[in-house]
Amino acid sequence: MQIDQINSFYEEDDSFRDHIATVDEKGKRNWIFSKKPNGKYTQARSYLAWVLILILFIGPFLRYDGQPLMLFNVLERHFILFGIVFMPQDFHLFVLAMITFVILIVLFTFIWGRLFCGWVCPQTIFMEMVFRKIEYWIDGDGPQQRKLASAPWTLNKISKRTFKYFIFYLISFLIGNTFLAYITGSDHVIKIVREPINNHLGGFIAMIIFSGIFFFVFAYLREQVCIAICPYGRLQGVLLDANSIVVTYDHVRGEPRTKLSREKTSGGDCIECKQCLYVCPTGIDIRNGTQLECTNCTACIDACDDIMAKINRPKGLIRYGSYNGILSGNKKIWTSRVKAYSLLLVLLISILGILLGTRGNIELTVMRTPGLLFQESPDGKISNLYNFQLANKTNKPIPVKMVTTTKGASIKMIGTLALLPMAEVSKGSFFIYLPKSKLTDRKTEVNISIMQGDKILTSTTTNFLGPITFK
Ligand code: SF4
Ligand code: SF4
Repeated sequence: MQIDQINSFYEEDDSFRDHIATVDEKGKRNWIFSKKPNGKYTQARSYLAWVLILILFIGPFLRYDGQPLMLFNVLERHFILFGIVFMPQDFHLFVLAMITFVILIVLFTFIWGRLFCGWVCPQTIFMEMVFRKIEYWIDGDGPQQRKLASAPWTLNKISKRTFKYFIFYLISFLIGNTFLAYITGSDHVIKIVREPINNHLGGFIAMIIFSGIFFFVFAYLREQVCIAICPYGRLQGVLLDANSIVVTYDHVRGEPRTKLSREKTSGGDCIECKQCLYVCPTGIDIRNGTQLECTNCTACIDACDDIMAKINRPKGLIRYGSYNGILSGNKKIWTSRVKAYSLLLVLLISILGILLGTRGNIELTVMRTPGLLFQESPDGKISNLYNFQLANKTNKPIPVKMVTTTKGASIKMIGTLALLPMAEVSKGSFFIYLPKSKLTDRKTEVNISIMQGDKILTSTTTNFLGPITFK
């Protein structure tokens, strides 16, 4: 097929771009009854999904050093990522991580399209690998589901619906609890479950709300989350280009579509069987080209491969590929462009990993007490008063002392500084004393170190103010 023919094919009827497949002309929801997909991609995605679901559910119970391995307590601003405690003091790291994350997303999508949506996104995993499979089990395959939906409310239909939504709610409750456990910790969730409701009314309400939201998402919203709500999905239009690798239909090979018949000797490989359309959970026809609704779930690849095998044509009429790759007939995915950008991705992830991994466990902030200059004592020493904040970002209390390594200088704490509580910020004040003879300028730099035994945990410097006429 010639390029101009291909282009005119797309220009012929692009009315599908004027509406989404899940809404009819009157604006009513078109419920999708997708056919059960089967094939190597569905198999591989199922295996990965079970691994990820397992990780998600056991995640809040994993402990490192007696603390959760993961915790995202936004209410108390307490975060633990792979055992590393993050506090409000790490905000700069958070900003850096967010910027890197955005660049990563843009770059990743630019190269690999919606690979994340199809394989890793929790919404797709739970919808397609858990809830949809339960639906196939209770209501049957797509055509049976459609039949049941339009059937009158018989006892059979009522019992099927009740059973299905009961299981849906149970799983939503489980997901809601897990979600809560990532926020408040698994111990807290276990307490809510075990102890009287009155003791944890707030937590109990949160549990019910989360479960209700997940139930609503998976029982009613479903593919609408990917089509209309998810900001990442909405951004695809600007993140993809003609070289991005997406689930795509090889129109060069497939067009013109010709129904299968004994006489079929000409035409493209697409036989208009519409199996790719029937399995699509967002109700689109991938043969119309890349569309915003496509979550790259690979169901249409498996469905079409199955047909191609049956009619003795090579598989891959629908496959992972880029628009330009299809036009040029290049089936290679690992092009030099993809390799170069992937390398950049790995580099960015490594930098972020190093930044997070090498972050200090103790953070000291020292500031001169506002409104005070210096004091001069009878023995000729000058003193300055400072405020400090000391963040212990570990999961253990740490015994510490504050010292200075500046010659002649000494520190006098106001109150005591002995034990830093775990994952907390300690605040206090102290004096630094310096003999007049050691002053080098109006402002002299003085070292302040935090020590655990003989080990310096962290150090900083501060300005020490003295009289101008000291020389
Ligand atoms: S499954 Fe393949 S052959 Fe059948 S309509 Fe889709 S693209 Fe054409
Ligand atoms: S077009 Fe194919 S890959 Fe895209 S959502 Fe539909 S079935 Fe999944």
